[in-house]
Amino acid sequence: MFKKILIANRGEIALRVIRAAREMGIASVAVHSTADADAMHVRMADESVCIGPPSSAQSYLSFPAIISACEITGAEAIHPGYGFLSENAQFVQIVEDHGLTFIGPTAEHIRIMGDKITAKDTMKALGVPCVPGSDGGVATLDEAKALGEEMGYPVIIKATAGGGGRGMKVAQNASEMERAFMTARSESKAAFGNDEVYIEKYLTTPRHIEIQVFGDGKGRAVHLGERDCSLQRRHQKVLEEAPGPAISAEERAKIGKVCADAVAQINYIGAGTIEFLYEKGEFFFIEMNTRLQVEHPVTEAIFGVDLVREQIRVASGMDMTFQQDELVINGHSIEVRLNAEKLPNFSPSPGRITQYHAPGGLGVRMDSALYDGYRIPPYYDSLIGKLIVHGRDRTEALARLDRALGELIIDGVDTTIPLFHELLAEQDIHTGNYNIHWLERWLETHI
Ligand code: ADP
Repeated sequence: MFKKILIANRGEIALRVIRAAREMGIASVAVHSTADADAMHVRMADESVCIGPPSSAQSYLSFPAIISACEITGAEAIHPGYGFLSENAQFVQIVEDHGLTFIGPTAEHIRIMGDKITAKDTMKALGVPCVPGSDGGVATLDEAKALGEEMGYPVIIKATAGGGGRGMKVAQNASEMERAFMTARSESKAAFGNDEVYIEKYLTTPRHIEIQVFGDGKGRAVHLGERDCSLQRRHQKVLEEAPGPAISAEERAKIGKVCADAVAQINYIGAGTIEFLYEKGEFFFIEMNTRLQVEHPVTEAIFGVDLVREQIRVASGMDMTFQQDELVINGHSIEVRLNAEKLPNFSPSPGRITQYHAPGGLGVRMDSALYDGYRIPPYYDSLIGKLIVHGRDRTEALARLDRALGELIIDGVDTTIPLFHELLAEQDIHTGNYNIHWLERWLETHI
């Protein structure tokens, strides 16, 4: 087992990894930009290294700065968290070239799944059902229009290199195709430096259901059920829950096995998430994320496992601590993402926290790097915490969420807390009757 690991991230996810390391008796090294010198992850780690100025490109994304921090401190492995370098195949290669261990999948798997066309082809070949669409990239508008006619509208044009909901445009009919196609391409070029796009049938009422998988890199893999992440704004998740209110035990077992078998066949190592759209009882693969997800705690809650601990174990060559038949669901869990954003436009609201009080009690977990007096810097993403609740069933989890939100105090900046108070007053949230469009429609008239 490693003696010391470096966490190439900040915020709540850096704390999450430091906590797992400490419980395992592993020393932790935090890295930080000059803007984060006072950040909680720096205070909580055993050691810290300043790796550059505020801009992520010169700090949290800087290969040489992070590798040097490992060399200076003697860290043997790097946990990337999510975002930043977590799905950067080139970085993984360089980490390995320096004799260090990347706590995550291989560069090869990251590369395959990072290109959405290759990912779909690979998954199809492994027996995973995919959204109907173009076979590969679509280079010209004429080709796009022909496909639209052939598949039937609406269709969605998506960036091959996409992520974070960017480079995606819907064409409801032929007349919208030119604009949608051109915009998706230019957005993709601007965001990812690559303008390749592909086309999929646009599903009109799906739920976003994702399967958590975990592999040992030696041909064994398990699934840990699904998360329903249908409550989204601009293709970004806002609230996640597990198990999914619309998924039966039979459906879970079936799609879970397909996913576990698929990743076992490629000797996948560590945590991964296979994302699907689910409509009328059918699953359609959209992409795979080769990292720990923001919403992993809801899965941890219902299975009683520590996914970060498992990631560190398999990266060091040890076995997973669980087998498929030992993974039994207990109760229901819900996570809400707390962003420093001002409603109704969700505009960033950085600044100083004048008062912070975290909720507690049975079944409540607060993952946040906030503290009284902390100043949220304006340079990074607006996620400032995650409130996760666990109950014996969905009704209890919802009541607990309501209660915990009532205890939570974050003063000094605007946050998305009021959004969740309002959502909890909605019948559809209590019945679980929502799809990926529900929140956007609701926001038009409520916030
Ligand atoms: P990203 O990598 O940018 O997050 P995804 O492929 O994971 O992109 O899609 C993000 C979200 O966009 C999905 O959760 C869903 O809400 C929507 N979406 C993607 N593909 C489709 C589709 N074919 N039909 C309908 N909605 C889609």
